[in-house]
Amino acid sequence: MGIIVLLVFIAIITANYFNPIILFLSSPVIIYVYSVRSKSKALFYFLTAIISYLIISYTTNTEVDYILLGVYTILTISLGIIFYLLMKKKKNELNQLGERLISIEGNALLKNVLKLAVKDEHMTIQESTEKISKVIINYYHVGYCTVFLKTERGLKIIATNIDKQITSYIEKFANFKYEEIKQEGNEEIAASITCGDEVLTYPTAAIRGIRYLNFIPLELGKKVLGALMIEDTDRRKMEDLEEDFFKIVIENISIVLQNFIYKDKLVSAAMVDGLTQVWNRTYLEKLIKDEIKLHKSNGSSFCIAILDIDNFKQFNDTYGHLHGDKVLKEISQFINKNIRKDNDIIARYGGEEFVILFTKVNEHEIYYKVENIRQEIEKLNITNDVGMRTPVTASFGIAEYPNQGVNMKELIEKADKALYFSKSNGRNKVTKYSDI
Ligand code: GH3
Ligand code: MG
Ligand code: MG
Repeated sequence: MGIIVLLVFIAIITANYFNPIILFLSSPVIIYVYSVRSKSKALFYFLTAIISYLIISYTTNTEVDYILLGVYTILTISLGIIFYLLMKKKKNELNQLGERLISIEGNALLKNVLKLAVKDEHMTIQESTEKISKVIINYYHVGYCTVFLKTERGLKIIATNIDKQITSYIEKFANFKYEEIKQEGNEEIAASITCGDEVLTYPTAAIRGIRYLNFIPLELGKKVLGALMIEDTDRRKMEDLEEDFFKIVIENISIVLQNFIYKDKLVSAAMVDGLTQVWNRTYLEKLIKDEIKLHKSNGSSFCIAILDIDNFKQFNDTYGHLHGDKVLKEISQFINKNIRKDNDIIARYGGEEFVILFTKVNEHEIYYKVENIRQEIEKLNITNDVGMRTPVTASFGIAEYPNQGVNMKELIEKADKALYFSKSNGRNKVTKYSDI
């Protein structure tokens, strides 16, 4: 290409030697160079043409035609400007087309996020955040996207495509990062972006080759709902990200997350027993079904213990129904505090009966735990309005899944039989189904 332009210029200069009018003919060529090549090169060729004209004029002793030169200059500059404006217009159109394309994709991204709140409202908070993570990964072509939920114990991962084995490191790091951002004292919590030519150095970043990290707290008003963490092995990908649009995406994710948090709270409220504030039977049934599903995938076993307060009718008759209510609350709350936070739950099964679900254990392992609970209930210091201690005891029946029952109904029946055994053997006892 360069050679062709050079040859054309040599031709123009030679032609000028015979007739300077030919200088005019060089204008389109200069304009062509002007529009296609850089402006400085166009100016260089333009000056070359004039200087060569002047040199030719002097060496051949012909008079310099200033009118010709002036017209030539004006013509070249005007044509240059016209070409420049035309090119600019074309470029703008191309840009607009590009933007429109981006906005079509962007709309799809926002639609996907918002759809979670509107159409897919049956989804759980876990499922919806997993979808958000996937949508972000696909749209921005990034390696990892993790969604955190703010809990009383800090940020907890709710959805991620990071390997399960390293999620605890990432959770720790996210909490550290969050504190760091908060301490910077910004009223509005800003995102934290870290990029490096070398791999970044936070835990597990090196083994995954991470060069780009964007940590964004998700907030609505002043309330922090959670955080989003985007990581990639290529630092360039997210660097020219459209900030305004990204902000809109983040805002929408926050709104969707807030919706799900509210919904989750509502669902939880519907799953909690009004009097005792422990889980209700509906939730227990859901959890047992989940545990049975889990057993099918990983073979884990679990146990249930049914608890029935002894002679509670008589207790009510003696101390009054209201005091009976207080006893139900105190006993269930006592048990709630004394079971493993992450593995066990207590639910009110009905009346003065409760079920404790112990996961990842067999009946022999749990027997002593339940026996201990029984003894502690006997020792509880529950007093009535006049400060009098009102002793109460409970009987228990334990059954194990899947050895003693392969579905919820069977399992409850077995535990009930064990409970009945405790009752008919003097009450205030714990019985394993396998012992009867
Ligand atoms: P057992 O040792 O055989 O279990 O005797 P029991 O009296 O506890 O058994 P029964 O099933 O005959 O009576 C259960 C009583 O529990 C009857 C009812 O008054 C009482 N009860 C059930 N729900 C509540 C409640 O919400 N509050 C109060 N205060 N009492 C309740
Ligand atoms: Mg009963
Ligand atoms: Mg009873």
